[in-house]
Amino acid sequence: MNAKIVTIPGDGIGPEIVAEAQKVLEKVAEVYGHQFTFEKVLMGGCSIDAYGEPLTDATVAACQSADAVLMGSIGGKVGQSHWYELPPEKRPEAGLLKLRKSLGLFCNLRPAHLYPELRRACPLRESIAEQGFDVMMVRELTGGLYFGARKTETVDGEEVATDTLVYHDYEIRRIAKKACEIAEKRHGHVTSVDKANVLDSSRLWRKVVTEVATAHPGVQLEHALVDSTAMQLVRNPGQFDVVVTENMFGDILSDEMAEIAGSLGMLPSASLREDSFGLYEPSGGSAPDIAGQNIANPLATILSAAMLLRYSLNLTKEADAIEDAVAEALRTGFRTGDIMEDDVEGLTCLHTDEMGDKIASLIR
Ligand code: NAD
Repeated sequence: MNAKIVTIPGDGIGPEIVAEAQKVLEKVAEVYGHQFTFEKVLMGGCSIDAYGEPLTDATVAACQSADAVLMGSIGGKVGQSHWYELPPEKRPEAGLLKLRKSLGLFCNLRPAHLYPELRRACPLRESIAEQGFDVMMVRELTGGLYFGARKTETVDGEEVATDTLVYHDYEIRRIAKKACEIAEKRHGHVTSVDKANVLDSSRLWRKVVTEVATAHPGVQLEHALVDSTAMQLVRNPGQFDVVVTENMFGDILSDEMAEIAGSLGMLPSASLREDSFGLYEPSGGSAPDIAGQNIANPLATILSAAMLLRYSLNLTKEADAIEDAVAEALRTGFRTGDIMEDDVEGLTCLHTDEMGDKIASLIR
């Protein structure tokens, strides 16, 4: 296969972790006989420094011409970096929001997988961590409360603020379809999360998701309320396979899942549109506190590269090869500083580039 991958290393640890993910993708190309071409572009603080804006038209055009985008992270130390003296619409984060919108990315995937070797990082009861879990959160990214009309006004001498929660049938339909397709490639179980006992938008959500699921006979659909799901995620996360939900519920539940999965340095993510195009990035930020020291954990970015192969290039074997390599590295005791346990014998703490080399060497 020939594929063009645009990379956006960004700021802080971004360039260090993206370099390792690219190294692993190059090894995959070599082992499996593919041709991946990489084009590096700027976004975020580095783009502000070079061009005076966080996202240029040239970066958007490069992304639009690619099969997929692999990103590191953007932003500096909030409150300390000169980027935060700029008005909000000129800051690094504004670039990412604008890029997601320009590329039509509506579906955010965040897998939360607890590796057996990292059980002790899981804050849940030992008996639950021991059972392990592997949940795929599918969050709607462009509708709902965050994008509805809002205002603050004075009514009868009192300040009143209003946010509007709007969902269109088509927005629910397309994310439900993605969730069912993903479940078909996993364990065939979808939990659709809403608040249908209170909200009209949730009742429409439930009706449309039910309709969509009937076209996927291999998928078993269940509906759950968001408050009970928040509780079930800490009580028994192993019961979930794919969880699909609207924007704000997904925002909150995916952070809850990130926490129970242990380390931020291990969590990949993808933002997809209706065709196969997607933007892939680690769930963490630019970690300015450890930038430039070659100690960041590159595994979330490497696992994001695996998602890129699976969802944008449909290269399942190759994606499995990366995920297996990460699991093998952990199983054989290799760690970065953030997941190192000093009181466990037989572990080796690697630098960022050494972990990239290790994963590349385990690609088979
Ligand atoms: P952060 O995720 O960058 O860091 C939180 C903590 O996790 C830090 O101690 C950091 O060292 C650690 N950490 C994060 N990723 C790690 C990795 N790969 N390996 C080892 N340790 C890791 O969050 P923050 O400090 O709140 O934000 C820093 C900057 O990142 C801010 O400018 C913020 O706006 C930005 N940010 C960007 C994105 C993005 O690019 N999508 C997402 C979140 C935050």
